[in-house]
Amino acid sequence: MYLRTMLETLKTLLVPSWKVLLAYAFGSLILNTLSHPQNILPLALTPWTPAPGLTLAVLMLFGLRYWPWLVAVTFLVDLPTHGLPPDWTSALMLAASLALSYGAMAVWLTRVLGIDPRFRNLRDLSWFLVAAIIGALLDAIVHVLTSVAGTAADSGDLLADLVNFWVGDLIRLLVVTPLVLVHAGSDWRGWKPTREMYIQAMAIAIALWVIFGLRYTDEFKFFYLLFLPLIWIAMRHGIHGTVVALAATHLGLNAILEWQGMHVIAVVEFQMLMLGLALTGLFLGMTVSVRRATEERLHRREAELNQAMRLAAAGEMAQAIAHELNQPLSALANYARAGRVMSGDPGRHASLLADTLEKIDREATRAGQVVHRLREFFRGGGLRLEDMSIAELIEEGLSPTRRRAERNAIAVQVDLPADLPRVRADRVQIGTVLHNLFTNAIEAIDTSQPASREIVISARRQDRDRIRVCVRDSGDGVATDMRERLFDSFATSKPEGMGLGLAISRTLVEAHGGELWLDSARPARFCFTLPLRP
Ligand code: ADP
Repeated sequence: MYLRTMLETLKTLLVPSWKVLLAYAFGSLILNTLSHPQNILPLALTPWTPAPGLTLAVLMLFGLRYWPWLVAVTFLVDLPTHGLPPDWTSALMLAASLALSYGAMAVWLTRVLGIDPRFRNLRDLSWFLVAAIIGALLDAIVHVLTSVAGTAADSGDLLADLVNFWVGDLIRLLVVTPLVLVHAGSDWRGWKPTREMYIQAMAIAIALWVIFGLRYTDEFKFFYLLFLPLIWIAMRHGIHGTVVALAATHLGLNAILEWQGMHVIAVVEFQMLMLGLALTGLFLGMTVSVRRATEERLHRREAELNQAMRLAAAGEMAQAIAHELNQPLSALANYARAGRVMSGDPGRHASLLADTLEKIDREATRAGQVVHRLREFFRGGGLRLEDMSIAELIEEGLSPTRRRAERNAIAVQVDLPADLPRVRADRVQIGTVLHNLFTNAIEAIDTSQPASREIVISARRQDRDRIRVCVRDSGDGVATDMRERLFDSFATSKPEGMGLGLAISRTLVEAHGGELWLDSARPARFCFTLPLRP
């Protein structure tokens, strides 16, 4: 038993995941092919130098135990293209020591500083930047020194070479590592690029074309154009979009530099500009992501608070009902008991019996009144009616969960005719109804994972006095066993569900004088009406 645990620990330490190694091999192959322009620089990469950005990312995600495997994989992947150089042992030693220094950096970042390798905040990104600057500098020093020692070249340009290599390496770290870290482990199933994403990719291509394709524009003066699509993407998609945009821009830029056969000096200058672009993009994207995460947390808190308050209100209501009903019910029980005793000798107690029955009648009526009063109170007591458009109402209901839909790649369509009349409704209450229907639709799509992921919210005029609003989703529809009891309190098919959403929503719609019903079970479509003048 003890031996088995030890063997298993040893296995997890020594045998890495082949999927990670395979992905690393593919990544290195692609990066080695793409980083070809580096050869324009006086300092070409020596073979078996693992693509540093990728190495750092894998070590940060999976730990130091991967470093010998990474070196071995790079060695094998590189053999077919570069073959075995004459001084292969020292080349291998160099590659191993560089990978080890990246490993040390990964340990420093994740263990000592405790940063989250998936970048959760600006602190994580800032420390990563510090590590990248130091790592690239070390890498540059090692390369410049070894190439000088190897070729006995003129060391006059040593500093310039060092800076060139440093900046080039730093960019590759800033472009590749965050791209891998931020997207590692993401669930890509069901992901589809939106129309906006195509336009954004086109914007990058157009910016590159204006900078390099038009003869009358100066490449350096117009470089700022690349900031525009990057800022747009960062504002819309946060750090996740920014890292992809940076990689695409870097790729495009490198391809053009190679294709146009740019001079070394131009390449170095472009690298400096690219560095500025990468830094701006990463920090802007991170700021947007952090702000969104905070907003989402606040919304979640608010929803939890709402839920808690609703439960508290339900508890209060139950107590109030219990208290109000307790008295008439115990009086009823007493009178009934007395009546039974008297019925043993009805002749003697005839008038007393009639009196008791009358009291029973009075108490029962009182209990009925209590129930009636409470129902009236909870029906209309809290309504705060406002004159508003259906579009505003729908926005009210969607805004807390819109981001959740975006994150789950669900397209939300709002279908409203332009000439819909305004309604009088309680903004919060009808907002809650729409919110519940919308959340149910997102959850239905999430659990059934259909090919098309779409929610359509439509509103039409039902007749002269009413408007009908419907929410349809592309999930698997309402389960057969749920259809009969959908609107019952505590009826739910979800492990974490409360089963109150639809019950509360129906009460709220009815308080407005409308109706809420399941219009179609498959696909699920819920509709409710609102009178134009309640
Ligand atoms: P909860 O969401 O907490 O379960 P609800 O009252 O909102 O409570 O919903 C009750 C049940 O109705 C859900 O558990 C689910 O089975 C079903 N349901 C609601 N909306 C949908 C939908 N859009 N598609 C499929 N089933 C749904």
